[in-house]
Amino acid sequence: MDKKRIYLSCPTMHGEEQKFIQEAFDTNWVAPLGPNVNGFEAEMAAYTGCGHAAALSAGTAAIHLALKLLGVEQGDVVFVSDLTFSATCNPIVYEKATPVFIDAEPDTWNMSPEALKKAFALYPHPKAVICVHLYGTPARLAEIMAICAEHQVPLIEDAAESLGSTYQGRHTGTFGKMGIYSFNGNKIITTSGGGMLVSADEELTKRATFLATQARDPARHYQHSQIGYNYRMSNITAGIGRGQLLHLEEHKAIKQSIYRQYQEAFADIPEISMNPLNPEGDANNWLSCMTIDAGSEATPDKVMDALAEENIESRPIWKPMHLQPVFEQYDFIAHHEDGSSVGADIFERGLCLPSDIKNTPEDMRLIIGTVKKCFGRA
Ligand SMILES: *Cc1c(COP(=O)(O)O)cnc(C)c1O
Repeated sequence: MDKKRIYLSCPTMHGEEQKFIQEAFDTNWVAPLGPNVNGFEAEMAAYTGCGHAAALSAGTAAIHLALKLLGVEQGDVVFVSDLTFSATCNPIVYEKATPVFIDAEPDTWNMSPEALKKAFALYPHPKAVICVHLYGTPARLAEIMAICAEHQVPLIEDAAESLGSTYQGRHTGTFGKMGIYSFNGNKIITTSGGGMLVSADEELTKRATFLATQARDPARHYQHSQIGYNYRMSNITAGIGRGQLLHLEEHKAIKQSIYRQYQEAFADIPEISMNPLNPEGDANNWLSCMTIDAGSEATPDKVMDALAEENIESRPIWKPMHLQPVFEQYDFIAHHEDGSSVGADIFERGLCLPSDIKNTPEDMRLIIGTVKKCFGRA
């Protein structure tokens, strides 16, 4: 195809990344740990206000260690957002614990506090709750935290998609007992791959670092009294992160502008709704998404096909976890009284629009024009 490819969300490098990497090369400090890892952790802690941070090989590794640190093990129940990427809940199953999927609510597409309450009535003693800030929109944290506090169950925030988003003026990822971020290639900033576990409690991030470096006891010889992991971030990877972090606010501003452009362009098409924002927060708008009213002639598949014709990348909304074959044996708690799933409805009627910060005004016009045509507008 000779048409220019327009991307959903892919890495944007600025040059400073290379300076940090060059320093690592010049000092032969390419191996795990080193000044970039320490620097990246300190700079992320300063930016988010999280307190303490442990740089890891992936966001998934960070979720896994968060569960380990809370002592999640076989037979334990963990409540987790249903409308998310599988990486949120896979680590629950690594530990042979039992996920219970909590439906989304329509206001933010995140964990429904109403469904969470119902889940506590059915399973009074879960070991942890993992809530996601989907596509960068903060969850209804005040209500979720109040429910968790009432039951004295720790909250883990999966802020993989919401780095830079705030809720009541504070960064997502800093409300729970622990939070996690991802620097995967498609996220708002990337290290090519990587993640971070953050907490106000330094003891937790220290123990995460310990477990992430093969759980070596302090001794001259190699002594182990726990099972460890090889989950640490390398000094090269962290160098990319330090350079990227300098541009996070700029990435966020462009993503927010992309969202507003779609919102304005589709304002006169009543069948289209943009993904919701939380009025108590400031979203990073990692991905702009839309839903199409049921019964409209245009469907997500038709819109995605029309975009693909123009070599424009788009993708479906995450398919809810309770609909995934690999998780079918686990319980699902619906938001609505009639048991119908809000997440499944969003999945069926929604799609993610191109949200790459390098997309030009001309690209945006082509994307918007292509979508509008599907609704019979010029
Ligand atoms: C990307 C993502 C993750 C996983 O992060 P990795 O760094 O790719 O392991 C976890 N949860 C959500 C919601 C994500 O989007």
